[in-house]
Amino acid sequence: MQDRERRVLAQCDEVLDQTLEMTSDLVREYSVLGHERGALEVMEGWFERLGLPVERIPLDDPSLAQNPHHAPVDWPLGNRYNLVAALNPEASGPHLVFNGHLDVVPAEPTDTWTRPPWEPWQQEGWLYGRGAGDMKAGIAAMVMAVHAVRQAGVEIRLPLTLQTVIEEECSGNGALACIHRGHGGDFVLIPEPFGARIYSGQAGVVRFRVRVDGVPAHVLDTSAGSDAIETMQRLFPALKKLEAELNAERLPPYDVMAHPFNLNIGRFEGGNWASSVPAHAVIEGRIGFAPEASPASVMQRLVVAVQDAHVELELPGEPPRVDFHGFRSEGHLVDLESPGVCLLEACHRALTGRDAEHYLSTCTTDLRAFHVAAGVAGTCYGPVAERIHGVDERVNIESIRHTLKAYALFLCRWQQQVVAP
Ligand SMILES: [Zn+2]
Repeated sequence: MQDRERRVLAQCDEVLDQTLEMTSDLVREYSVLGHERGALEVMEGWFERLGLPVERIPLDDPSLAQNPHHAPVDWPLGNRYNLVAALNPEASGPHLVFNGHLDVVPAEPTDTWTRPPWEPWQQEGWLYGRGAGDMKAGIAAMVMAVHAVRQAGVEIRLPLTLQTVIEEECSGNGALACIHRGHGGDFVLIPEPFGARIYSGQAGVVRFRVRVDGVPAHVLDTSAGSDAIETMQRLFPALKKLEAELNAERLPPYDVMAHPFNLNIGRFEGGNWASSVPAHAVIEGRIGFAPEASPASVMQRLVVAVQDAHVELELPGEPPRVDFHGFRSEGHLVDLESPGVCLLEACHRALTGRDAEHYLSTCTTDLRAFHVAAGVAGTCYGPVAERIHGVDERVNIESIRHTLKAYALFLCRWQQQVVAP
């Protein structure tokens, strides 16, 4: 390792406390869908404090909706944006992007948490809170890595863009908006909390909603009504059957996994009164599928599965309504031979003395937008977190230090490899 690399790594140790402070500041802003403003403002404040230029990239840009990779959504877009810090945008040479998402998933019901999920706390080497792992620590590490490089006196001469985006947990439209505005770059690193492993591929994901209408009636004669909640539950086996089919069709590299493509019915809502036959039921869910399948084909199969079940089970009423909002994302495999991935492997070896493991994912990340919308190679590599999307989510502090160093070293070497010294 060169002297200046050692200097940069020493600087990473110096800025670890600030990195934890930024992570905690972000966790305090409970940035669930539609409520990202606080986290965005905190992030913007940090960019300014670190002397990084910051630009807002709005999600309600009308031309974004025309992008073929844009996922239709049914929630408001006004006043919602990503933040981009572009260094040396006019410089020639390969453009490096560090990208992370500021949005988190809901933590309710919160009474099962040790402390409120938006009040970060540290205990025995872990930092706790909703989004601490997924992925506010990763964002803090990637931003502070850039700061550490600069603090160590290494000039950044190449185009480098830091992106902190929203809607990673529901549509992928945040990252897409950055790419749509020309910030796709030539290689992207995303510090998702899957540990110090090279992310080697991800599943496709489609989000869906099914609505069943029944007939309301007084419970003195339930047979006068049609119970939408009961009807909805009778559709579940058809969805499980589709899930089983998608898993049965799996090909390498997913063939070594027992059940990579998961169905999740994540919301169930229906009825309006304890003593009225429920007149409506709605579920929202997501289903994963292989990189070979297209989102459109899986959406079609899901509609047919629900319609067929309605007929075969002779369910009452009109056929259930199926619609799609949010994720309709292709899966893909990471190009493990790309120069950026090889460089990351080298940085991992330099820091740990070992080869990096690979990690094949059953979910999706914003890597998808870079891959499909811009043909940009990239991977995920980040801190170690536990119970993401769960109770008492936490991120390992030493793994944040490692992420900080890996991103800083990567940035130094990326620039050294491609720019004449
Ligand atoms: Zn994430």
